[in-house]
Amino acid sequence: MTKIVAYAIRDDEQPALKDWREAHPEVEVVDTKDLLTPETAALAKGADAVVVYQQLDYTRETLEALHDGGVSVMSLRNVGTDNIDFDAAKEFGFQISNVPVYSPNAIAEHSMIQLSRLLRRTKELDAKIAKGDLRWAPTIGREMRMQTVGVIGTGNIGRVAIKILQGFGAKVVAYDMYKNEEIEKQGLYVDSLDELYAQADAVSLYVPGVPANHHMIDDAAIAKMKDGVVLVNVSRGNLMDIDAVVRGLNSGKISAFGMDVYEKEVGLFNADWSESGIPDKTIADLIERENVLVTPHTAFYTTKAVQEMVHQSLDAAVAFTNGEVPSIAVKFPD
Ligand code: NAD
Repeated sequence: MTKIVAYAIRDDEQPALKDWREAHPEVEVVDTKDLLTPETAALAKGADAVVVYQQLDYTRETLEALHDGGVSVMSLRNVGTDNIDFDAAKEFGFQISNVPVYSPNAIAEHSMIQLSRLLRRTKELDAKIAKGDLRWAPTIGREMRMQTVGVIGTGNIGRVAIKILQGFGAKVVAYDMYKNEEIEKQGLYVDSLDELYAQADAVSLYVPGVPANHHMIDDAAIAKMKDGVVLVNVSRGNLMDIDAVVRGLNSGKISAFGMDVYEKEVGLFNADWSESGIPDKTIADLIERENVLVTPHTAFYTTKAVQEMVHQSLDAAVAFTNGEVPSIAVKFPD
């Protein structure tokens, strides 16, 4: 019987795990809340594969401990592979997979929910209502269909965002270095970011956080945008110079801002600061502002996305074990 050990399983992953087990009675899946470390690797001794998801590095010591226990298949339940020691993985003959696409809708919807909440001033409105103030003014909103929304990046997530925007009746202008046929047919592309900035009432990002895109939203980019622009970033924190965004908010150049990602989010997001207070002054300040929505990298966090991450990783582990190469196998860097 094929045996897989699934590490760092969260409670919210259990339903997906249960479904998968029921559909695959021929596979034994042992799950643990423990992270994969050189010590906990012993749990997988004699197993066929491990399934993992953690920020903690997959170090040479960890991979060696797995290898010593006879395990050389590791399926990640997430996208990022930057915490893997690939030299060691190569040396120990590992086969690795990740889950690059789990639910573009989860992220696209979150971004558009942020945008619509900002346009309808729901943070201010909710706070007012919670205090018992049931007057209309001053929280008058703006309608989606009156907005021209600039979508930067028309990959998996950007394209879903465009569909949602079109459902609202918004005008979309899009920019991507590599044009998508379907979006091109619809005539949504502008030729440059400058053109997008000049036309857009709101700008939402769907590009990767690769070095070339580092701080693509900086003082100079913001200066090219319309006065009162609304910004949304659910993609990667390093796409934005957050100090420039704060300056834009302070001057009123940016009328509202929604963020799900932050350049310094590791160690800050997905932790409870309710007793000690949020240690990062920039985020603490942004959370206080009524025209800013901060979510702690939760755009992906839906039942569907979590199910996909669990199921795809287990499927890939089984494929490797059967001598196949799953479509989501990770190509090792040279
Ligand atoms: P994708 O690879 O499918 O699409 C990215 C697109 O961006 C590509 O079409 C590419 O050509 C384009 N692009 C890259 N640099 C560009 C630039 N400078 N200007 C214009 N276009 C550019 O990626 P995706 O799956 O759609 O993911 C989009 C973003 O969402 C990524 O940053 C990803 O990390 C992020 N993401 C966030 C969450 C979350 O929970 N917040 C979850 C998953 C993904």
